[in-house]
Amino acid sequence: MKNQDSATEIYREKLLEQKARAERSLLSTVAEGRKFDTDDIIDPADQAVMSYQRELMFSQGTNERTQLSLIRLALDRLNEGTYGECMSCEEEIGAKRLEAVPWTPYCIRCQEKIENGELDESEQAA
Ligand SMILES: [Zn+2]
Repeated sequence: MKNQDSATEIYREKLLEQKARAERSLLSTVAEGRKFDTDDIIDPADQAVMSYQRELMFSQGTNERTQLSLIRLALDRLNEGTYGECMSCEEEIGAKRLEAVPWTPYCIRCQEKIENGELDESEQAA
């Protein structure tokens, strides 16, 4: 299974790289968000824009946090040797899909079910 080992290393590298990127971007999102944490707002219209921007930042930060936790879970699975298996149906996740989204816990079929609301997204909330 030499082949599998080197593939695993490639995914590990990808995940670590993506993790560093998500962490950096999360930090800058938090820093950006702080800029809007000011009380001296003059115009109510400005205030509306500010709160909209804050909300945007917040949801962006949440996405990054979610991605980060997915990446961490994927790295755990790499260490446990269960990486590449769908967390839901335990089928193998396609190599193309892993290359595009190396942190995905689900195969394409289960992901579609989640998006259609047919399956619980428990992994995402963890
Ligand atoms: Zn599946």
